[in-house]
Amino acid sequence: MTTFKDLNLTKQLINALSDIGFENPTPIQEKAFPVIMSGKDTVGIAQTGTGKTFAYLLPILRQLTYSEQRQPRVLIVVPTRELVLQVVDEVAKLSTYMQARCTGVYGGGNINIQKQKVYDGIDILVATPGRLIDLTLSRTLQFNSIQKLVIDEVDEMLNLGFRAQLIKILDILPEKRQNLMFSATLNEDVELMIDNYFKKPEYVELISRGTPLEKIIQHAYQVPNFYTKVNLLEYLLQTENAFSKVLLFVKNKKIADEIYKSLEGEFSEDIGVIHSNKSQPQRFSAVKKFDEGTHRLLIATDVIARGLDLKDVTHVINFDMPSKEASAYIHRIGRTGRADKTGIAISFITKKDAAMQKEIETLMKKKLVILDMPEAVEISENLTQDEKPVTRDKSLKKLPSTTQFSGGGAFHEKKDKNKKVNLGGKRRQENLRRIAEKNARTKPF
Ligand code: AMP
Repeated sequence: MTTFKDLNLTKQLINALSDIGFENPTPIQEKAFPVIMSGKDTVGIAQTGTGKTFAYLLPILRQLTYSEQRQPRVLIVVPTRELVLQVVDEVAKLSTYMQARCTGVYGGGNINIQKQKVYDGIDILVATPGRLIDLTLSRTLQFNSIQKLVIDEVDEMLNLGFRAQLIKILDILPEKRQNLMFSATLNEDVELMIDNYFKKPEYVELISRGTPLEKIIQHAYQVPNFYTKVNLLEYLLQTENAFSKVLLFVKNKKIADEIYKSLEGEFSEDIGVIHSNKSQPQRFSAVKKFDEGTHRLLIATDVIARGLDLKDVTHVINFDMPSKEASAYIHRIGRTGRADKTGIAISFITKKDAAMQKEIETLMKKKLVILDMPEAVEISENLTQDEKPVTRDKSLKKLPSTTQFSGGGAFHEKKDKNKKVNLGGKRRQENLRRIAEKNARTKPF
C-alpha cells in the first residue's frame, strides 16, 4: 500500500500528516499528486469524503516557496462559507511545520476584517465567488500574482448560480496560471467551462471498485406507489437484521427528505441523508456515520453518491429505479458486496419502470428475480402529489354547458375517450360524476 512517504513530499508535510494520523494517501490523492506536480491543468472527479481537499492541497503546499509578497499566489474558490472554513482549517493542519499564510473570505463575514487580513499579506486565499469579486472591486485584492487556481465543487457552484461570477473571476486572472478543478460530476456546464478556460487538462478520476455482477444477488419487488415503498422498506429494516449497511438510492432530494420524514419516528437514530441541498459538514457527517456503522441506512441521490468510497455495504436498495440511463443501475449495485463476499441489490419497481427494467436486463444479459410482496406489507392507497393523476377538471368546466349536459353525443364521446386514458380509477370517475351533477344543478338550462 502506498504511503505518504512514497509521494515525494517534504519532511514538514510528512510530519504534519503524521501528527494528524494519516499514513496512506486516498486513491484520489495518490492519483492527483503527480499530475498536479507536473504543472498541468487538472480536472479531478471526486466527491466529498474521498480526501479531495488534501488531493489538491498537498501538491500546492509541496510547491509553495517562502515569500514575503503580500498578494496571494494561490486562489481556491469554493461554493460555501462552510467549505471556506474547512479548507482554511485543512491548510492550517498541513502547514504546521512550514510557512503558509492562508486566509478565508466569504459573504456574511466582516469585510473590513477580511480586507485587513488580505492587506497583511497572504500566500493562499480561500474564497466564495461573490466576496472575492467585492474584494477585487475595492482593489484590496489583486490577482496579478496568482499562479494556481483551484475551483472546488464546481458542479455545486454552478447549481447555486455562481456561473457569471466564476466567469468574471476567470477572465481577470493572469493568463499564465495552473488551473485545478474538482467536481463530483462532469455535466455539460462543467465541461463547457473546462473547454473555455483550461489548457489540455488531465483528468483524474476515481473508478469505482464495483463488485462484479455475478457476485450480486439481484431481487426486485413490484410496488405500486411511494407510500407502499416506504412500508416495504420499513418492513425490511424491521424484520431483517442482515440489512445492517444499506445504501438507498432515490431519484431526487425531495424524495430523500420525504423518506427520512416517514421513517424518522422509528429509525431516526439509524438514518443519514445526503443530497446537494445538504451542507458539506452535514454530508460529511452522514457519510462518516454510515461508514462507521452508527447509521444503518444512507439515503442518497445518484449524483451525490458518485465518488464516495463506501465500504462493506450489505444492501443497495433502488427505492427509485434510475430514470435515464440503465448503466446507472450497474454503478449503483456495484457499491454492495466486498471482494470476497456476495452483495445484495433490491429494486422497488413501479409500472412506470417497466421499460427501464427491460433496458437494464438487456444490458446485463440477466433478469431480475421478482419476489412476492410480503403479506405483512400494507399496500397504501395514498398517493403523493406527484403520483396523483393529472386532473382535467378545468377543461371539463371550459366546455360549453350544452355540450356537457345536453345528453347528446358530444358528452358521451368525451366520456368514452377519457375512459381509454384511464383517469385514475373509481374515485376519479366518482369525482367527475359529482362535478357534472353539481354543474347540472347550478347551471340549469
Ligand atoms: P474531503 O473529501 O477532502 O472532504 O475529505 C474527507 C475527510 O477525509 C476529511 O476529514 C479529511 O481530513 C480526511 N482525509 C483526507 N485525507 C485522508 C487520508 N489520507 N487518510 C485518512 N483520512 C483522510
